[in-house]
Amino acid sequence: MQKENQEKLQCPECESTNIRFRFKVNTKEKNNAYANVTEEMQCASCFMDIPANVFIYNTDDEIEENKKIWQSFYKPEHLKVAAQCSRCSQYYWQIEKQLSDINITSPDIFYQTYDTKGSGGKMVCRLCDPEAFKNNKQ
Ligand SMILES: [Zn+2]
Ligand SMILES: [Zn+2]
Repeated sequence: MQKENQEKLQCPECESTNIRFRFKVNTKEKNNAYANVTEEMQCASCFMDIPANVFIYNTDDEIEENKKIWQSFYKPEHLKVAAQCSRCSQYYWQIEKQLSDINITSPDIFYQTYDTKGSGGKMVCRLCDPEAFKNNKQ
């Protein structure tokens, strides 16, 4: 396979060609789909974090192939671990998209509540409780 210098990008989720971030990842779990993923990209349109290897394509044929791999292989795994709000049940990418619509692009979108009964903290998003984030900032 030939390597090209100019990488071509297309989101396998929503077909956007723009990314917000590109970052290195280090998966500790060696048995899941993400074991060999070393880099991810956050799409600038759907806001999902997606493995770079299915975001980059060389030939047009690979676009469809990437979509299949994402939908059947990576995405189900991602949904299991993706950050989700305990109140509105939205995932981080749905929350980030709505926040960006109101010009909030901070990565700080969740806080954790502490349960005194010891069942662990719950995530609450910035949309459900914007006041909590104002207080934290000051
Ligand atoms: Zn996308
Ligand atoms: Zn929420």
